[in-house]
Amino acid sequence: MATPAPPGIDWQLLVDLLPCAVVAFDAADRLVVCNEEFRRLHGPLAGAIEPGLAFESLLRLSVEHGLAPEAMGREEAWVAERVAAHRAPAADGATTVRRLPDGRWRRVTETPLPGGGRLAFSVDVTELVQRQTDLAQLNARLEEARVRLEAISETDALTGIANRRHFDRRLHEEWSRLRRHGTGFALLLADIDHFKRYNDRHGHQAGDQCLQRVANGLARCAQRPADLVARYGGEEFALLLPHADRNGAATQAMRVVAALDAAALPHGDSPVAPHVTLSVGGVVADPTRHGDEQALLAAADAALYRAKAEGRRRAVLD
Ligand code: GH3
Ligand code: MG
Ligand code: MG
Repeated sequence: MATPAPPGIDWQLLVDLLPCAVVAFDAADRLVVCNEEFRRLHGPLAGAIEPGLAFESLLRLSVEHGLAPEAMGREEAWVAERVAAHRAPAADGATTVRRLPDGRWRRVTETPLPGGGRLAFSVDVTELVQRQTDLAQLNARLEEARVRLEAISETDALTGIANRRHFDRRLHEEWSRLRRHGTGFALLLADIDHFKRYNDRHGHQAGDQCLQRVANGLARCAQRPADLVARYGGEEFALLLPHADRNGAATQAMRVVAALDAAALPHGDSPVAPHVTLSVGGVVADPTRHGDEQALLAAADAALYRAKAEGRRRAVLD
C-alpha cells in the first residue's frame, strides 16, 4: 500500500535532494518519475526526459548523444541487451558498475516494483573504483617484489647459482617425492681441490673469480631442466639430479671432473694438476639405506672424502 506524503512534505523535492539518480518505469517500460540528478546525468538530452518516455527510446537517445561509450560499434546489440536485462531484473535487484563518458563510475541498481514496474537508482562510486584499481596495482607490485625477493633469497650472491637454502628446499622436495612416488634421484657433492693453496697463491679476489668460473662450468654440466646446481658452501658445490640412476650419476660425476679439466683454469700451487681440479662424491638416494636427507648427505660426503683420499681429481660413488 502506497504511503501518502505527510502534509507539508514534497516527495519530488526530497527525491531531487538525494545524492543519487532515481528513475521509475511502469510495467510498459514508460518513464513515470525521475529526479534532478537523473536529468543532470543525461545532460544533453535532459529536455527529452519526460513521463511517458519509453526505456528503449531513452537508450537510443543516450547512444545518439554519446552517453553510452560501451555501446560504440555495437549499438543495436547493446540496446537489445539492456532492454532484455531491464525486463528481467533479478528479484533482489541487479547491480552493475558502469563507466560514464566523462570517466566517472556509477553503480546502478535495478529493482522490480510491485505491479511490474522497475525502479533504478545509481550512485557515484568513482573514488571506490579508483581505490580498488590502486589496490590491485599495489598488490601486483607487491607480488612482483615477493617473487624477486624469493629469487634473491635463493641465489648465491657471488656465483649467481642456487644457494644452500635453495638446495635444501629442492633436496627436501626430491626426498619427499621419492618417499611418496618412488621417483629416484642422485646427489653429487663437488669440492675444489687445494683451494686454500689457490687463495694463498693467487689471492682471495682471484679465488672469488675462480669460484664463479667453476660455478659456470658446473651449471653448463646440468643437462636436464630439473637438474639443480647449487653452491653448497665455501668451495663446495652440490648437484641434484632427478631421475638419475647409478649409471646416470656416475656419468654425470665424470663429466663434472672432465669439465674442470677442460676449463684449464691455472692453479699455481696444486700437487694434483697445473689447473683447478674437482673431487666428486656421489650417491643415489635409497630410503632403505639412507634414513633421511641428512644420512643421504653424509653418504655423499663420505664418498667425496674417499675421492680426496684416493688422490683427488676424481669421482667416487657411494
Ligand atoms: P681439499 O683439496 O682437501 O678440499 O683442500 P682445500 O684447500 O680446498 O680445502 P680447505 O677446506 O682446507 O680450504 C677451503 C678453502 O676455500 C679455504 C677458504 O678460504 C676457501 N674459501 C671458502 N669460501 C671462499 C670464498 O667465498 N672465496 C674465496 N676466495 N675462498 C673461499
Ligand atoms: Mg676443497
Ligand atoms: Mg671443502
